Amino acid sequence: MLRKTLPACLFLLSVALHGQSTPREKLAREIFRELIEINTTDSAGNNTTAAKAMAKRFLEAGFPEADVRVLAPEGRPAKGNLVVRLRGRAGSTLRPILLLAHLDVVEARREDWTTNPFEFVEKDGYFYGRGTVDMKDYDAVMVTTLLQFKKEGYVPNRDLILAMTSDEEGGPANGVDWLLKNHRELLDAAFVLNGDSGGVTTDKGKAIEIGVAAAEKLYADFQFTVTNPGGHSSRPSPDNAIYHLADALGRLERAPFPFELNPVTRAYFESVEAHETAQNAADIRGILRNPPDAEAVRRLTADTRFNSLTHTTCVATRLNAGHANNALPQTAQAVVNCRILPGHSPEEVRRELVKRVADPRVAVRYLVSATQQAVETAPDKPGLPPSAPTPEVLKPLRSVADTIWPGAGIVINMQTGASDSKYTLAAGMPSFGVGEIAVERNDDRSHGRDERVRVNSFYEAVNFFDRYVRTLTR
Ligand SMILES: [Zn+2]
Repeated sequence: MLRKTLPACLFLLSVALHGQSTPREKLAREIFRELIEINTTDSAGNNTTAAKAMAKRFLEAGFPEADVRVLAPEGRPAKGNLVVRLRGRAGSTLRPILLLAHLDVVEARREDWTTNPFEFVEKDGYFYGRGTVDMKDYDAVMVTTLLQFKKEGYVPNRDLILAMTSDEEGGPANGVDWLLKNHRELLDAAFVLNGDSGGVTTDKGKAIEIGVAAAEKLYADFQFTVTNPGGHSSRPSPDNAIYHLADALGRLERAPFPFELNPVTRAYFESVEAHETAQNAADIRGILRNPPDAEAVRRLTADTRFNSLTHTTCVATRLNAGHANNALPQTAQAVVNCRILPGHSPEEVRRELVKRVADPRVAVRYLVSATQQAVETAPDKPGLPPSAPTPEVLKPLRSVADTIWPGAGIVINMQTGASDSKYTLAAGMPSFGVGEIAVERNDDRSHGRDERVRVNSFYEAVNFFDRYVRTLTR
Protein backbone atom coordinates (compact mmCIF):
# COMPACT_ATOMS: atom_id res chain seq x y z
CA MET A 1 0.00 0.00 0.00
CA LEU A 2 2.69 2.40 1.05
CA ARG A 3 4.71 1.47 -1.99
CA LYS A 4 1.77 2.30 -4.18
CA THR A 5 0.81 5.59 -2.66
CA LEU A 6 4.24 7.05 -2.08
CA PRO A 7 5.12 7.74 -5.73
CA ALA A 8 1.60 9.10 -6.24
CA CYS A 9 2.12 11.49 -3.34
CA LEU A 10 5.48 12.56 -4.73
CA PHE A 11 3.86 13.09 -8.09
CA LEU A 12 1.11 15.25 -6.63
CA LEU A 13 3.66 17.15 -4.62
CA SER A 14 5.70 17.89 -7.71
CA VAL A 15 2.58 18.99 -9.56
CA ALA A 16 1.77 21.24 -6.64
CA LEU A 17 5.28 22.65 -6.72
CA HIS A 18 5.58 22.91 -10.45
CA GLY A 19 2.02 22.95 -11.73
CA GLN A 20 2.09 26.71 -11.48
CA SER A 21 5.52 27.59 -12.66
CA THR A 22 6.87 31.08 -12.13
CA PRO A 23 7.15 33.48 -15.08
CA ARG A 24 10.90 32.82 -15.06
CA GLU A 25 10.33 29.06 -15.33
CA LYS A 26 7.75 29.52 -18.10
CA LEU A 27 10.14 31.68 -20.07
CA ALA A 28 12.97 29.18 -19.60
CA ARG A 29 10.78 26.31 -20.79
CA GLU A 30 9.77 28.26 -23.89
CA ILE A 31 13.40 29.07 -24.76
CA PHE A 32 14.38 25.45 -24.09
CA ARG A 33 11.64 24.24 -26.44
CA GLU A 34 12.66 26.69 -29.15
CA LEU A 35 16.31 25.63 -28.97
CA ILE A 36 15.65 21.88 -28.99
CA GLU A 37 13.51 22.30 -32.10
CA ILE A 38 16.26 24.12 -34.01
CA ASN A 39 18.59 21.44 -35.37
CA THR A 40 22.18 22.49 -34.63
CA THR A 41 24.05 19.33 -35.62
CA ASP A 42 27.12 19.72 -37.82
CA SER A 43 25.63 17.63 -40.65
CA ALA A 44 22.15 18.99 -41.22
CA GLY A 45 21.79 21.74 -38.63
CA ASN A 46 22.35 25.47 -38.55
CA ASN A 47 23.96 27.16 -35.54
CA THR A 48 23.25 30.61 -36.91
CA THR A 49 19.50 29.98 -36.84
CA ALA A 50 19.72 29.26 -33.10
CA ALA A 51 22.06 32.22 -32.49
CA LYS A 52 19.67 34.55 -34.32
CA ALA A 53 16.60 33.21 -32.49
CA MET A 54 18.27 34.04 -29.17
CA ALA A 55 19.52 37.41 -30.48
CA LYS A 56 15.92 38.29 -31.37
CA ARG A 57 14.86 37.67 -27.78
CA PHE A 58 17.60 39.93 -26.42
CA LEU A 59 16.78 42.73 -28.86
CA GLU A 60 13.09 42.50 -28.01
CA ALA A 61 13.99 42.71 -24.34
CA GLY A 62 15.68 46.04 -24.97
CA PHE A 63 19.37 45.11 -25.23
CA PRO A 64 21.04 47.67 -27.53
CA GLU A 65 22.01 46.31 -30.95
CA ALA A 66 25.69 46.97 -30.30
CA ASP A 67 25.57 44.54 -27.37
CA VAL A 68 23.92 41.68 -29.31
CA ARG A 69 26.28 40.32 -31.97
CA VAL A 70 25.84 37.31 -34.23
CA LEU A 71 29.22 36.50 -35.77
CA ALA A 72 30.18 33.73 -38.17
CA PRO A 73 33.53 32.89 -39.74
CA GLU A 74 33.85 33.90 -43.38
CA GLY A 75 32.57 31.23 -45.73
CA ARG A 76 30.74 29.40 -42.93
CA PRO A 77 27.31 31.03 -42.74
CA ALA A 78 25.80 28.17 -40.71
CA LYS A 79 28.42 28.46 -37.94
CA GLY A 80 27.19 31.63 -36.30
CA ASN A 81 27.95 32.53 -32.67
CA LEU A 82 26.04 34.91 -30.44
CA VAL A 83 27.79 37.28 -28.03
CA VAL A 84 25.57 39.33 -25.71
CA ARG A 85 26.65 41.83 -23.10
CA LEU A 86 24.59 42.94 -20.13
CA ARG A 87 26.12 46.19 -18.92
CA GLY A 88 27.13 46.32 -15.28
CA ARG A 89 27.11 49.23 -12.86
CA ALA A 90 28.48 52.43 -14.41
CA GLY A 91 32.04 53.14 -13.38
CA SER A 92 32.66 49.60 -12.16
CA THR A 93 36.33 48.66 -12.26
CA LEU A 94 35.62 44.94 -12.05
CA ARG A 95 36.38 42.96 -15.19
CA PRO A 96 33.42 41.10 -16.75
CA ILE A 97 32.34 37.52 -16.17
CA LEU A 98 31.98 35.38 -19.30
CA LEU A 99 29.13 32.87 -19.40
CA LEU A 100 29.96 30.13 -21.87
CA ALA A 101 27.47 27.89 -23.65
CA HIS A 102 27.60 25.96 -26.92
CA LEU A 103 24.56 25.83 -29.18
CA ASP A 104 25.57 22.86 -31.31
CA VAL A 105 24.55 19.29 -30.50
CA VAL A 106 25.77 15.80 -31.33
CA GLU A 107 24.16 14.03 -34.29
CA ALA A 108 20.94 12.11 -33.59
CA ARG A 109 19.10 9.77 -35.95
CA ARG A 110 15.32 9.59 -35.78
CA GLU A 111 15.34 5.79 -36.23
CA ASP A 112 17.55 5.31 -33.15
CA TRP A 113 15.23 7.31 -30.90
CA THR A 114 11.86 6.62 -29.33
CA THR A 115 10.80 10.24 -29.92
CA ASN A 116 11.87 12.71 -32.61
CA PRO A 117 15.19 14.08 -31.25
CA PHE A 118 14.42 17.54 -32.66
CA GLU A 119 11.00 17.75 -31.10
CA PHE A 120 10.66 18.97 -27.52
CA VAL A 121 8.69 16.26 -25.73
CA GLU A 122 7.58 16.34 -22.08
CA LYS A 123 6.79 12.83 -20.88
CA ASP A 124 6.67 11.13 -17.45
CA GLY A 125 8.43 13.98 -15.68
CA TYR A 126 11.21 14.36 -18.27
CA PHE A 127 12.00 16.64 -21.18
CA TYR A 128 13.24 14.60 -24.15
CA GLY A 129 15.24 15.82 -27.13
CA ARG A 130 18.78 16.12 -28.46
CA GLY A 131 20.57 18.64 -26.28
CA THR A 132 18.31 18.36 -23.23
CA VAL A 133 21.46 17.59 -21.19
CA ASP A 134 24.28 18.68 -23.50
CA MET A 135 23.63 21.56 -23.37
CA LYS A 136 20.51 23.34 -24.51
CA ASP A 137 19.27 23.07 -20.93
CA TYR A 138 21.98 25.47 -19.79
CA ASP A 139 21.65 27.55 -22.96
CA ALA A 140 18.06 28.19 -21.89
CA VAL A 141 19.09 28.72 -18.26
CA MET A 142 21.70 31.35 -19.17
CA VAL A 143 19.50 33.20 -21.68
CA THR A 144 16.65 33.27 -19.15
CA THR A 145 18.95 34.63 -16.44
CA LEU A 146 20.11 37.58 -18.53
CA LEU A 147 16.62 38.34 -19.91
CA GLN A 148 15.20 38.27 -16.42
CA PHE A 149 17.93 40.56 -15.05
CA LYS A 150 17.17 43.04 -17.83
CA LYS A 151 13.43 42.84 -17.28
CA GLU A 152 13.75 43.46 -13.55
CA GLY A 153 16.29 46.22 -14.07
CA TYR A 154 18.88 44.29 -12.08
CA VAL A 155 22.29 45.84 -12.73
CA PRO A 156 25.20 43.54 -11.82
CA ASN A 157 28.37 44.96 -10.28
CA ARG A 158 30.24 44.24 -13.56
CA ASP A 159 29.45 43.38 -17.18
CA LEU A 160 28.10 39.91 -17.88
CA ILE A 161 28.97 38.46 -21.27
CA LEU A 162 27.15 35.47 -22.71
CA ALA A 163 28.79 33.60 -25.60
CA MET A 164 26.71 30.94 -27.36
CA THR A 165 28.91 29.12 -29.78
CA SER A 166 29.28 26.53 -32.53
CA ASP A 167 31.13 23.25 -33.00
CA GLU A 168 32.00 22.31 -29.42
CA GLU A 169 30.96 18.76 -30.26
CA GLY A 170 33.21 18.65 -33.32
CA GLY A 171 32.98 20.23 -36.75
CA PRO A 172 35.30 22.61 -38.53
CA ALA A 173 34.47 25.93 -36.81
CA ASN A 174 34.81 25.91 -33.03
CA GLY A 175 33.19 29.18 -32.02
CA VAL A 176 35.15 29.85 -28.83
CA ASP A 177 38.48 29.31 -30.58
CA TRP A 178 37.38 31.52 -33.48
CA LEU A 179 35.96 34.30 -31.28
CA LEU A 180 39.10 34.40 -29.14
CA LYS A 181 41.27 34.68 -32.25
CA ASN A 182 39.08 37.23 -34.04
CA HIS A 183 37.05 39.13 -31.43
CA ARG A 184 39.03 38.72 -28.24
CA GLU A 185 37.81 42.08 -26.88
CA LEU A 186 34.20 40.82 -26.91
CA LEU A 187 35.02 37.86 -24.68
CA ASP A 188 37.65 39.28 -22.38
CA ALA A 189 36.72 38.50 -18.78
CA ALA A 190 38.14 38.06 -15.30
CA PHE A 191 36.89 34.46 -15.32
CA VAL A 192 34.56 32.12 -17.13
CA LEU A 193 31.49 30.20 -15.96
CA ASN A 194 30.99 27.30 -18.35
CA GLY A 195 27.56 25.62 -18.31
CA ASP A 196 28.89 22.58 -20.17
CA SER A 197 30.68 20.93 -17.24
CA GLY A 198 30.11 20.51 -13.54
CA GLY A 199 26.71 19.07 -12.64
CA VAL A 200 24.75 17.63 -9.77
CA THR A 201 24.64 13.88 -9.29
CA THR A 202 21.60 12.33 -7.67
CA ASP A 203 21.12 8.90 -6.17
CA LYS A 204 17.47 7.81 -6.34
CA GLY A 205 16.54 11.44 -6.79
CA LYS A 206 18.54 12.76 -3.85
CA ALA A 207 21.39 15.14 -4.67
CA ILE A 208 24.67 13.74 -3.37
CA GLU A 209 27.35 15.64 -5.21
CA ILE A 210 27.74 19.08 -6.80
CA GLY A 211 30.55 19.04 -9.33
CA VAL A 212 32.61 22.11 -10.15
CA ALA A 213 35.08 21.67 -12.99
CA ALA A 214 38.19 23.75 -12.49
CA ALA A 215 40.78 22.38 -14.88
CA GLU A 216 40.99 20.41 -18.09
CA LYS A 217 43.39 17.94 -19.50
CA LEU A 218 44.76 18.84 -22.88
CA TYR A 219 43.94 16.61 -25.85
CA ALA A 220 46.68 15.66 -28.33
CA ASP A 221 47.12 12.99 -31.00
CA PHE A 222 50.53 11.74 -32.12
CA GLN A 223 51.43 9.65 -35.12
CA PHE A 224 54.14 7.00 -34.85
CA THR A 225 55.61 6.04 -38.21
CA VAL A 226 58.22 3.48 -39.22
CA THR A 227 59.21 3.26 -42.87
CA ASN A 228 61.30 0.60 -44.56
CA PRO A 229 62.28 -0.27 -48.15
CA GLY A 230 60.22 -3.46 -47.72
CA GLY A 231 60.85 -6.44 -49.98
CA HIS A 232 59.77 -10.03 -50.57
CA SER A 233 58.25 -11.68 -47.49
CA SER A 234 60.22 -14.90 -48.20
CA ARG A 235 63.38 -13.05 -47.16
CA PRO A 236 62.51 -11.44 -43.81
CA SER A 237 65.02 -9.06 -42.32
CA PRO A 238 65.21 -8.17 -38.64
CA ASP A 239 64.50 -4.60 -39.67
CA ASN A 240 60.74 -5.11 -39.97
CA ALA A 241 58.68 -1.91 -39.71
CA ILE A 242 55.84 -3.62 -37.87
CA TYR A 243 58.17 -5.10 -35.25
CA HIS A 244 59.80 -1.72 -34.69
CA LEU A 245 56.41 -0.13 -34.18
CA ALA A 246 55.06 -2.92 -31.97
CA ASP A 247 58.16 -2.76 -29.76
CA ALA A 248 57.84 1.00 -29.51
CA LEU A 249 54.19 0.75 -28.42
CA GLY A 250 55.09 -1.95 -25.90
CA ARG A 251 57.79 0.26 -24.39
CA LEU A 252 55.32 3.12 -24.23
CA GLU A 253 52.81 1.01 -22.32
CA ARG A 254 55.45 -0.06 -19.79
CA ALA A 255 56.65 3.52 -19.14
CA PRO A 256 53.71 5.55 -17.89
CA PHE A 257 54.03 9.27 -17.27
CA PRO A 258 54.76 10.25 -13.67
CA PHE A 259 52.20 10.71 -10.90
CA GLU A 260 51.38 14.36 -10.37
CA LEU A 261 48.91 16.43 -8.34
CA ASN A 262 47.87 20.03 -8.89
CA PRO A 263 45.75 22.37 -6.74
CA VAL A 264 42.55 21.17 -8.46
CA THR A 265 43.16 17.43 -8.16
CA ARG A 266 44.33 17.96 -4.56
CA ALA A 267 41.03 19.69 -3.83
CA TYR A 268 39.22 16.85 -5.60
CA PHE A 269 40.84 14.12 -3.52
CA GLU A 270 40.29 16.09 -0.32
CA SER A 271 36.59 16.46 -1.15
CA VAL A 272 35.94 12.80 -2.05
CA GLU A 273 37.99 11.16 0.71
CA ALA A 274 35.05 10.96 3.10
CA HIS A 275 32.87 9.11 0.58
CA GLU A 276 35.40 6.45 -0.40
CA THR A 277 36.04 3.01 1.09
CA ALA A 278 38.31 2.86 4.15
CA GLN A 279 41.24 1.59 2.06
CA ASN A 280 40.77 4.24 -0.64
CA ALA A 281 40.43 6.95 2.00
CA ALA A 282 43.69 5.86 3.64
CA ASP A 283 45.39 5.79 0.23
CA ILE A 284 44.05 9.24 -0.60
CA ARG A 285 45.59 10.58 2.60
CA GLY A 286 48.78 8.78 1.54
CA ILE A 287 48.97 10.38 -1.89
CA LEU A 288 48.23 13.83 -0.47
CA ARG A 289 51.31 13.56 1.76
CA ASN A 290 54.50 15.31 0.76
CA PRO A 291 56.21 13.36 -0.71
CA PRO A 292 53.33 11.05 -1.63
CA ASP A 293 53.35 7.51 -0.29
CA ALA A 294 54.46 5.26 -3.17
CA GLU A 295 52.41 2.24 -2.07
CA ALA A 296 49.27 4.37 -1.79
CA VAL A 297 49.89 5.80 -5.26
CA ARG A 298 50.31 2.29 -6.68
CA ARG A 299 47.11 0.95 -5.09
CA LEU A 300 44.92 3.95 -5.80
CA THR A 301 45.97 4.49 -9.41
CA ALA A 302 45.20 0.87 -10.26
CA ASP A 303 41.70 2.37 -10.57
CA THR A 304 41.54 3.99 -14.04
CA ARG A 305 39.41 6.84 -12.74
CA PHE A 306 42.14 7.92 -10.31
CA ASN A 307 44.94 7.04 -12.70
CA SER A 308 43.70 9.44 -15.37
CA LEU A 309 43.37 12.25 -12.82
CA THR A 310 46.96 11.94 -11.68
CA HIS A 311 48.84 11.14 -14.88
CA THR A 312 49.25 12.33 -18.41
CA THR A 313 48.01 9.26 -20.26
CA CYS A 314 48.95 8.15 -23.76
CA VAL A 315 47.34 5.18 -25.42
CA ALA A 316 47.55 3.61 -28.89
CA THR A 317 44.16 3.96 -30.55
CA ARG A 318 44.79 3.12 -34.23
CA LEU A 319 47.12 0.91 -36.21
CA ASN A 320 47.83 0.66 -39.90
CA ALA A 321 50.63 -1.24 -41.61
CA GLY A 322 51.73 -3.16 -44.69
CA HIS A 323 50.39 -3.29 -48.21
CA ALA A 324 50.29 -6.99 -49.17
CA ASN A 325 50.22 -10.37 -47.44
CA ASN A 326 53.39 -11.46 -49.24
CA ALA A 327 55.46 -8.30 -48.83
CA LEU A 328 57.53 -6.87 -46.03
CA PRO A 329 55.80 -3.75 -44.69
CA GLN A 330 57.11 -0.47 -46.10
CA THR A 331 55.12 1.55 -43.60
CA ALA A 332 53.77 0.88 -40.15
CA GLN A 333 51.80 3.60 -38.43
CA ALA A 334 49.94 4.08 -35.17
CA VAL A 335 47.95 6.89 -33.62
CA VAL A 336 48.65 7.53 -29.95
CA ASN A 337 46.09 9.65 -28.13
CA CYS A 338 47.30 11.62 -25.11
CA ARG A 339 45.37 13.42 -22.38
CA ILE A 340 47.89 15.83 -20.93
CA LEU A 341 47.84 17.18 -17.39
CA PRO A 342 47.49 20.96 -17.25
CA GLY A 343 50.78 22.78 -17.04
CA HIS A 344 52.44 20.62 -19.72
CA SER A 345 52.59 21.30 -23.44
CA PRO A 346 51.98 18.84 -26.30
CA GLU A 347 55.55 19.40 -27.49
CA GLU A 348 56.92 18.48 -24.06
CA VAL A 349 54.88 15.26 -24.25
CA ARG A 350 56.06 14.56 -27.81
CA ARG A 351 59.68 14.76 -26.65
CA GLU A 352 58.84 12.45 -23.74
CA LEU A 353 57.29 9.98 -26.19
CA VAL A 354 60.47 10.03 -28.30
CA LYS A 355 62.47 9.22 -25.15
CA ARG A 356 60.16 6.37 -24.13
CA VAL A 357 60.08 4.89 -27.63
CA ALA A 358 63.89 5.03 -27.68
CA ASP A 359 64.17 4.00 -31.32
CA PRO A 360 65.36 6.53 -33.92
CA ARG A 361 63.56 4.50 -36.59
CA VAL A 362 60.21 5.55 -35.10
CA ALA A 363 59.20 9.07 -36.11
CA VAL A 364 56.89 10.72 -33.59
CA ARG A 365 54.82 13.51 -35.14
CA TYR A 366 51.96 15.65 -33.87
CA LEU A 367 48.57 15.37 -35.58
CA VAL A 368 46.86 18.74 -36.07
CA SER A 369 43.29 18.07 -34.97
CA ALA A 370 41.46 20.27 -37.51
CA THR A 371 43.26 18.81 -40.55
CA GLN A 372 44.75 15.52 -39.29
CA GLN A 373 48.05 16.69 -40.84
CA ALA A 374 51.16 15.22 -39.26
CA VAL A 375 53.74 17.85 -38.34
CA GLU A 376 57.24 17.51 -36.89
CA THR A 377 56.67 19.47 -33.69
CA ALA A 378 53.64 20.09 -31.47
CA PRO A 379 52.39 23.34 -29.88
CA ASP A 380 54.70 24.36 -27.07
CA LYS A 381 52.25 26.40 -24.95
CA PRO A 382 51.45 24.67 -21.66
CA GLY A 383 48.28 26.69 -20.97
CA LEU A 384 47.25 28.20 -17.68
CA PRO A 385 48.45 26.33 -14.60
CA PRO A 386 45.35 24.98 -12.85
CA SER A 387 43.96 26.89 -9.92
CA ALA A 388 41.20 25.80 -7.58
CA PRO A 389 38.13 28.05 -7.66
CA THR A 390 38.50 31.14 -5.50
CA PRO A 391 36.16 31.78 -2.56
CA GLU A 392 34.66 34.56 -4.70
CA VAL A 393 33.31 31.87 -7.05
CA LEU A 394 32.76 29.10 -4.55
CA LYS A 395 31.15 30.79 -1.56
CA PRO A 396 28.01 32.03 -3.30
CA LEU A 397 27.75 28.71 -5.13
CA ARG A 398 27.83 26.87 -1.83
CA SER A 399 25.22 29.10 -0.22
CA VAL A 400 22.78 29.00 -3.15
CA ALA A 401 23.28 25.28 -3.78
CA ASP A 402 22.52 24.59 -0.10
CA THR A 403 19.03 25.99 -0.56
CA ILE A 404 18.32 23.81 -3.63
CA TRP A 405 20.31 20.61 -3.03
CA PRO A 406 20.78 20.56 0.77
CA GLY A 407 23.32 18.10 2.08
CA ALA A 408 25.14 17.54 -1.21
CA GLY A 409 28.90 18.06 -1.06
CA ILE A 410 30.81 20.19 -3.54
CA VAL A 411 33.41 18.24 -5.49
CA ILE A 412 36.07 20.22 -7.32
CA ASN A 413 37.24 18.23 -10.30
CA MET A 414 39.39 18.18 -13.39
CA GLN A 415 37.78 17.21 -16.68
CA THR A 416 39.62 14.32 -18.26
CA GLY A 417 37.70 14.83 -21.48
CA ALA A 418 37.69 18.33 -22.85
CA SER A 419 35.17 21.15 -23.07
CA ASP A 420 35.48 24.61 -24.59
CA SER A 421 37.12 25.71 -21.32
CA LYS A 422 40.35 24.48 -22.88
CA TYR A 423 40.32 27.54 -25.16
CA THR A 424 39.48 30.07 -22.46
CA LEU A 425 42.04 28.51 -20.11
CA ALA A 426 44.66 28.69 -22.86
CA ALA A 427 43.69 32.35 -23.32
CA GLY A 428 44.54 32.97 -19.66
CA MET A 429 41.04 33.13 -18.21
CA PRO A 430 40.35 30.90 -15.18
CA SER A 431 37.36 28.78 -16.19
CA PHE A 432 34.91 26.93 -13.99
CA GLY A 433 32.30 24.40 -15.01
CA VAL A 434 29.18 25.21 -13.01
CA GLY A 435 26.47 23.66 -15.18
CA GLU A 436 24.65 22.47 -12.09
CA ILE A 437 21.73 20.33 -13.16
CA ALA A 438 20.66 17.20 -11.34
CA VAL A 439 21.11 13.98 -13.30
CA GLU A 440 20.66 10.51 -11.82
CA ARG A 441 23.91 8.61 -11.29
CA ASN A 442 23.44 6.09 -14.12
CA ASP A 443 21.19 8.12 -16.37
CA ASP A 444 23.57 10.48 -18.14
CA ARG A 445 22.36 10.25 -21.74
CA SER A 446 24.38 13.10 -23.21
CA HIS A 447 25.48 12.20 -26.75
CA GLY A 448 23.25 9.09 -26.53
CA ARG A 449 19.77 8.06 -27.61
CA ASP A 450 16.62 9.36 -25.92
CA GLU A 451 18.57 12.13 -24.21
CA ARG A 452 16.49 13.56 -21.40
CA VAL A 453 16.47 15.73 -18.32
CA ARG A 454 14.10 15.69 -15.38
CA VAL A 455 11.56 18.49 -15.55
CA ASN A 456 12.21 19.38 -11.91
CA SER A 457 15.98 19.35 -12.46
CA PHE A 458 15.58 21.87 -15.24
CA TYR A 459 13.58 24.31 -13.12
CA GLU A 460 16.01 23.86 -10.23
CA ALA A 461 18.84 24.84 -12.58
CA VAL A 462 16.90 27.88 -13.77
CA ASN A 463 16.50 29.07 -10.19
CA PHE A 464 19.99 28.07 -9.09
CA PHE A 465 21.77 29.96 -11.84
CA ASP A 466 19.69 33.10 -11.49
CA ARG A 467 20.37 33.25 -7.76
CA TYR A 468 24.01 32.25 -8.11
CA VAL A 469 24.88 34.97 -10.63
CA ARG A 470 22.91 37.53 -8.62
CA THR A 471 24.83 36.66 -5.46
CA LEU A 472 28.10 36.74 -7.37
CA THR A 473 27.49 40.20 -8.80
CA ARG A 474 25.63 41.99 -6.06
ZN1 LIG B 1 28.65 19.84 -24.36
